[in-house]
Amino acid sequence: MKEIIVVKIGSSTLTNGSDRISRGKLEELAQEILQLQKNYHVVLVSSGAIATAKQFVNTDDWKNLVASKQAMAAIGQPKLMQFYYEVFSDFKIEIAQCLLTYRDFDSGVAQSNTLNTIKELLHHNFVPIINENDTVAVDEIELGDNDKLSAKVATLIGAKTLILVSDVDGIYDKNPHLHADAKLISEVTDLESVAQYIEEKKDGLGTGGMTSKLEAVRICNASGVETIITKGSNENFITDSLTGKINCTTFKPSS
Ligand code: GLU
Repeated sequence: MKEIIVVKIGSSTLTNGSDRISRGKLEELAQEILQLQKNYHVVLVSSGAIATAKQFVNTDDWKNLVASKQAMAAIGQPKLMQFYYEVFSDFKIEIAQCLLTYRDFDSGVAQSNTLNTIKELLHHNFVPIINENDTVAVDEIELGDNDKLSAKVATLIGAKTLILVSDVDGIYDKNPHLHADAKLISEVTDLESVAQYIEEKKDGLGTGGMTSKLEAVRICNASGVETIITKGSNENFITDSLTGKINCTTFKPSS
């Protein structure tokens, strides 16, 4: 079996900074996946359910409550998958949906069922598209934007690499949104040495800041999975990150 790459893509990348899911971004993603599939199996962890719902409901009628976000996720998830289906089928990429929660990783039975499903999908060349099941869990709605969920998935399925697609190139020695002289760190072997550089900014869409990304890296590190943080607005943001052609941060696991 080919090695597995898990790509985690969040709402702000999928909307390309706008208030709608960008078909152009989905097309770029599809092209990247086609390239990757020559050498790897690909698993996507995608947010964007709530962002999608906002295109279809009058947001003025909805309060900013967790329950409202859960309901919006339920409205948006099938429509998000429809967008994926419409765009990816033009590229002959077959997709499947898996909805998971953190709790599923605490149960041996749920873990083995999840692993069996994903392996079978990959064997048949379907790209699993994973999101949190926001009806029964709110962990990633509250904090994380699927960063931690993607790390748990990558660990469970023994992925080679988890790619966390972000709105920054990687880890800087200062927050690049706040400091013009911030310098990118391209490779990290000692995670704790960079944790001090994290300074959060308030985000518009999505809830995953650098803190949740580092939490994801910690989970991957512990099980020997390499993690890359890369900027989703770059061209070839996945394939060029793997070959080191663009600015990004690679976290080498210690084990
Ligand atoms: N599961 C949520 C969604 O797909 C994540 C929300 C977020 O972007 O933080 O919308």
